Amino acid sequence: MKYSLSMLLCLCLLACEAGPDADNELVTNRGAGKDQWWHALPREAWAGFARVDQSQDWFEVYEVSPDVYAIYEPGQFEEVISYLIAGTDSALLFDTGLGIGDMHKLVRELSNLEIIVLNSHTHYDHIGGNHAFGQVLGMDTSYTRKRALGLEHSQVSAGVAPGWIWKPTPEDFDAESYAIKPFVIDRYVRDGEHIDLGGRKLEVLFTPGHAPDALCVIDRENRLLFTGDTFYPAPLYTHLEGSDFDAYRQTAARLAALSTEVDQLMPGHNEPALRADYLLHLQAAFDEIARGHLDYVVTDGNREYKFGDFSIITR
Ligand SMILES: [Zn+2]
Repeated sequence: MKYSLSMLLCLCLLACEAGPDADNELVTNRGAGKDQWWHALPREAWAGFARVDQSQDWFEVYEVSPDVYAIYEPGQFEEVISYLIAGTDSALLFDTGLGIGDMHKLVRELSNLEIIVLNSHTHYDHIGGNHAFGQVLGMDTSYTRKRALGLEHSQVSAGVAPGWIWKPTPEDFDAESYAIKPFVIDRYVRDGEHIDLGGRKLEVLFTPGHAPDALCVIDRENRLLFTGDTFYPAPLYTHLEGSDFDAYRQTAARLAALSTEVDQLMPGHNEPALRADYLLHLQAAFDEIARGHLDYVVTDGNREYKFGDFSIITR
């Protein structure tokens, strides 16, 4: 989808309000190239997919594969993507976004099926809507249980600060009280578990590294891999609290072995439907960093190693 001229003008005005054309120091710890991040929008990749009508301006929804809906939140820096993956009996909602728009209302407009929520991991930008759903699966880790208690305003206020949002937020949204509501985990998932949605089977793969409870979901029959934050085409984070470089490296090796079994990667940020050979590049990148001879730049006090379309940030 392309924005109209008036929308582009509006976007520009909002962007100018959000900060000067100098460095956007408000978005910290996120690698190089984050300044005026909204200038990268709209990302061309989305133009290749049919946009799906729904009632909230905050979200953009695209059918990125038959019965797979990417729910994109381009108005905030994370540009998070959640996915509704439908079978014939039930649908898996893989992440619930920032909690700025009403994810439950949106999903009800897309599907009448029973909804099962599973998070790619429990960072704030993927669990914002969890509280509104009756069936939430999670990983059996102390990290996950702690995150299910919710996140206070002080823990997430940076995500809605000036410089992080360019798009008007919903009328009933209040940045001053923004927080992540607690949610109940109904059942713990196991590594290798199959989730049968009727006419579509998904397999859960534990992929720790970015976060202790990071996981991917593979749809083998349709050759899709939902990667969450383990891979997307931008700076990848191994430096956050709870991140683990060595675990991430092992995850990269595990996923590289799947590169011939899937055609497309469906990541948790920025754009959908990436080539599967990125998985090989990811493994090679981790291996090169581990060998210790690579050049890096220092961004916000962290090392950032660049590999073309993506980079890896380490402590
Ligand atoms: Zn994350």
